[in-house]
This record gives sequence, C-alpha cells and structure tokens, in this order.
Amino acid sequence: MANEKIPYKIYLNEDEMPKNWYNVRADMKVKPAPLVNPGTLQPMSAADLAPVFCDELIAQELDNDTREVPIPDEILGFYKMYRPSPLVRAYCLEEKLKTPAHIYYKFEGNNTSGSHKLNSAIAQAYYAKKQGLKGVTTETGAGQWGTALSMACAYLGLDCKVYMVKVSYEQKPFRREVMRTYGASVTPSPSMDTAVGRKILAEHPGTTGSLGCAISEAVEVATSNPGYRYVLGSVLNQVLLHQSIIGLETKVALDKYNIVPDIIIGCAGGGSNLGGLISPFMGEKLRGERDYRIIAVEPASCPSFTRGKFAYDFCDTGMICPLAKMYTLGAGFIPSPNHAGGLRFHGMSPVLSQLYHDGYMEAVSAEQTAVFEAAEFFARTEGILPAPESSHAIKVAIDEAKKCKETGEAKNIVFGLTGTGYFDLVAYEQYNNGTMTDHIPTDEELAVGLAGLPKQPEF
Ligand SMILES: *Cc1c(COP(=O)(O)O)cnc(C)c1O
Repeated sequence: MANEKIPYKIYLNEDEMPKNWYNVRADMKVKPAPLVNPGTLQPMSAADLAPVFCDELIAQELDNDTREVPIPDEILGFYKMYRPSPLVRAYCLEEKLKTPAHIYYKFEGNNTSGSHKLNSAIAQAYYAKKQGLKGVTTETGAGQWGTALSMACAYLGLDCKVYMVKVSYEQKPFRREVMRTYGASVTPSPSMDTAVGRKILAEHPGTTGSLGCAISEAVEVATSNPGYRYVLGSVLNQVLLHQSIIGLETKVALDKYNIVPDIIIGCAGGGSNLGGLISPFMGEKLRGERDYRIIAVEPASCPSFTRGKFAYDFCDTGMICPLAKMYTLGAGFIPSPNHAGGLRFHGMSPVLSQLYHDGYMEAVSAEQTAVFEAAEFFARTEGILPAPESSHAIKVAIDEAKKCKETGEAKNIVFGLTGTGYFDLVAYEQYNNGTMTDHIPTDEELAVGLAGLPKQPEF
C-alpha cells in the first residue's frame, strides 16, 4: 500500500470502537504466578483479597481464563469523552530521520490527566461505585495516576483519598491542585495519619517518601475505614486488562490499512501501558498466528527487567501487601531521583514478567539524558511535548528507525506515547540547563535491594 493512502492520524468511528477488553492471560500457556500471602506463603483467595480490593476487580485479577471481558456501557460512555486516542503516522519524524521505516505512535496524552492511566481509573472507580462503596484510596508518585483517579471519582461521585509521595507533593503543586479541583483529598506521604507512616517517619525522619511507602499508607487507610477499598494504577493483572483498550484500538486502526507492525515498543514502569498496547498482538504471538518483536524500555536507573531477579517480592516498602512474582530490584530499592517518576517502581507486572521470562518479549534500558535528547528531537519534529516516561519508548523507536536506515528495511514500528510532559517542566529545565545527570546503580547497590527479597513460596 502506498504511503500517501495512510492518513496522518488514523481515527476510529464509534462503531469501530472495541466493546470488550482482552485478557491476554487466557492465551498464556504458562500463567502469571498467583499473588501470595506474605505470612502463610499460600496463594491469596478472593476472600483474602476482599478487605483490600473491590469484589469485581478481584474476580478480574484472578481470572486467567476469560478471553473477552465486556466493557460496561457506563465505561464505554466515559471512554467516548476522550477515546479513541489517535494513532499517528509519524511522517515528520520519518522524514527528519531519513528512514525507510514507517513509524506510528498511539498517543494517550489527549485527556486532562495527561496519560493512559484514565483507562483503568474509570474502570476501577466504576466497580467500586457498583459495589456501593463510599470511596477509594491510592498512592501517586509523579501524580498521573492520582489525577486520573480523581477525574474518574468526580465523574461517578466517589470519595478519593490520594497519598502522594512527599517529594512530588512539594515539587509538583500543579498536579496536586488538579486532583483537588476534581475533589480528591491529597496527603503527602509518609504522613502521621497512618501507623505505617508514623513508623517510617520515626525510622527515617525527614524522608521525602517513596511509592512503596505511599502504597502502604493507602492500603492501611482502605482496610481501616468501612466502605473504602484500595486501587492501584499499574502492575496488577486487572490494570493490564483495562489498558488492553490501547492495543485493541491500535489493532483496529492498523487493520483498516492492512498495516502489520514488525516492532512494538513501550516504556515500562509497572507495565500497564506496554501490557495494554501489546495485548492483542501478544495474543496472536502466543497462539502462533503471527510474530512480532516486542520491546520494553526502562530507565537505566531502575532496571527491573534488565538487571532484576524473577522472584516473589513485596509491592510496597511497608511489606503489608501480597507478594507478587515479578522481575524486581527488591522492595527496599530506592531508585535515584530520575525524572521519569512513573517508571521508578522496583517491580514489574507479573504478566509481563512471565512473558519476558518465557522469551516472548525483549527489554532494554535507556539513560536519562539520552531519553531527553530523544524527547527534545520528538517535540521539535512531531510537535507533541512528551512525558519523560513516554520518551523512553521514543528513544528506542528512533534507534530502531535508524537501524532501518542502515539496512534499507521499511519496517513498521509502533510505539506507545503514553502522555504529555506539561507537568514535567522541572525535568526539562534541568535538561535545558545542562544539569541533568545519569545515575546507573552499581551491582553492589542492586545487591542490597535484592538481598532483602522475602522467603520464597515452595510451590
Ligand atoms: C504511569 C506512567 C507510565 C508508566 O506506567 P506503566 O504502568 O508502566 O504504563 C508511563 N507513562 C506515563 C505518562 C505514565 O503516567
């Protein structure tokens, strides 16, 4: 098919929009390992999880078999406010790179929360509301998830309590105010509100907090207040299920023009955008119908896939959450203050971890300054100011497009552009001032985090 026929943006009509989420676990021969109780080291049952999560979300979390999950009408209605997100043919980028490759990106930054996280936030808030709950609690690091959840809760009339990592609370007042405008209460973490917060503050006075610590606080508040449950914006199986909307829309759009991707690239923090983007393609790969190269990109400062261990670990610093089997750097690992806040989690989605372990996808790491060089190049070429997280995918998409220039291959490269960088201008300021640094942890530093892995289950 001639290039000219492919529009700059491929949109879907309303009747072409996916009506079901796709659960990639149904097609995995080796299923992701179950969540485990840290005390008994036995798999968590639905009843064990019920004090923490909403019932319907627990069912989705544990369901490894249902392939298509119908999207409730209310959620489809909400999706219509900001979806489909555009699939853009990066003609300008291709021309600037003088590459024969065809580059496409799926842009998820076109909503007020500024990222893909809204896709799961509305689903999780919907099931909480349907259960008759009063509200939900959560943590947020850089703020994208908290913002998305507060938008979803405002829409449905649910209370929303956000524990925001203290350093972000202080450095990102604008995100905080967006959340408050949507009616959420935002507390800097660690706080004196919770037993775990008080304990962490006693042990580390003056700490600026971490995502793992904020998770512990949000879980404690959910389990100690009737009518509240905890919700999480990444890592979990249910989140990947909701985010499959990204990949399903991408596939419909590509199919309209008979475009078959050769390489699919996404940044990986907890794995939700990548898991969602690749899901229908991974399904074809798992069923042996088609092959794709799938590449996860993570920061060199927080290299869970590329330098972590595949083991059961805590998702939180307070060690009160279930254990998940995943590529991890250890729950005690504190990444250096990299600006891609959404990629600073020590672990990784159990689904993607299993797929990576079984050889279905690749992973690479990228250094911060190189990522910002790619971000700047992309902003000047394609016009969109990308989030630092998303720019990891941009960096590797550009690298692959340059390889195509050398070999003369016209590969189809698809990458996930997860969000905008409007709230990350302190990071851009450092980059522009030339004061941005790269920190790559030494093997000794990583060994400290990995030494803290819990006792492993025997099954
Ligand atoms: C949260 C976030 C990410 C990383 O999270 P995943 O669960 O790995 O997708 C990436 N990009 C943006 C813009 C984010 O907000």
